[in-house]
Amino acid sequence: MSIIKDIKAITVSVPLDNPTSFSSRQVLKREYALVEITSDSGHKGIGFCYGGSNAGALVTQAVRELLRPVLLGEDTYRVEGLWQAMYQEALLHGRTGSVMRAISIIDTALWDHNARAVNLPLYKLLGAHETESVPAYASGGYYLEGKTPKDLGNEMRSHVDNGFRAVKLKVGRESLAKEEARLAAVREAVGPDVRVMMDANNAWRDLPSACEFMRMAESYDPYWIEEPFSPDDIDNHQRLAERTFVPVATGEIEAGRWRFKELLDKQAAMILQTDAAVCGGVTEFRRITATAASYGVDVCPHWFHDLHVHLVASSPNAPYVEHFGDDQVLNFRRLIDTQLKTENGRLLLPKTPGLGFDFDAKNIANYAVDEWH
Ligand SMILES: [Mg+2]
Repeated sequence: MSIIKDIKAITVSVPLDNPTSFSSRQVLKREYALVEITSDSGHKGIGFCYGGSNAGALVTQAVRELLRPVLLGEDTYRVEGLWQAMYQEALLHGRTGSVMRAISIIDTALWDHNARAVNLPLYKLLGAHETESVPAYASGGYYLEGKTPKDLGNEMRSHVDNGFRAVKLKVGRESLAKEEARLAAVREAVGPDVRVMMDANNAWRDLPSACEFMRMAESYDPYWIEEPFSPDDIDNHQRLAERTFVPVATGEIEAGRWRFKELLDKQAAMILQTDAAVCGGVTEFRRITATAASYGVDVCPHWFHDLHVHLVASSPNAPYVEHFGDDQVLNFRRLIDTQLKTENGRLLLPKTPGLGFDFDAKNIANYAVDEWH
């Protein structure tokens, strides 16, 4: 037995050095909800999620008021039972969004705690598929004021020079002609053998616009088109998937296994981008990934390489971790004390117990918008 003694949460707000943009919005700062669970065995576990540009405290509030009462005094190893209890307690408020993020970070913290307690890196506790390193793709290619197609090409080329064999850029914000100039510059810069992923961040509202873009983009041999429509517009994802040879990817803000089953049943995505910090934690991520495997579909988890390196390393149908090499877009790395290393486009797996890092207390205090409680 290992009894949960305390659960604390905090909200932090980390400004971006340079406001960054994608097709549908601009981001000035990022809020994160962090959680720490301690047990009577003397071990702890941590979890975290993105809480949006504003109101990240909705997640911490759900941890404190809705979920903590369900968990105190329970056995940390009863992970499946506690997931079900949290889900049931949150039925009216949750099932997706901030409350599912709260369930996700607690579930992650339980897995981290239990891996630390048995002195194993999380991917080994989960049942490793890889034990040394996993493939990663370099994510970036954002829209910035004054950034030219050549600048974008140089940025993508720098990832290839650093050993990456797959890169991702944002698409769908500019006119078709400007978008073509960006894609052409990227393909020219990285050469024919590097995979180029495209992220549209819900750029299109209608099928004809998406088809028009894809007819142009297909000449540059992209590897996938990500989030072409609103996540709720599953039918248009399906229609686009029928009309382009480029695989459709989506799911980064989807939650719960049932919604992913709908994407799979409708053949609306050939790549799921499940995020364990969104979908219901490590537990739900594994259910979704196992189901996707039965459909012959891969899962390429959405950002947070520090967390997803463990899940890719323990899932045979998860070919890539999404990697952000600096803190200009995803600035979560400022909140933790250890950074993963890359080598030849692969992320080296941590050897230390649990997730393999701790929160950086000093930086968290600097960025905190409330207090640990
Ligand atoms: Mg995306």
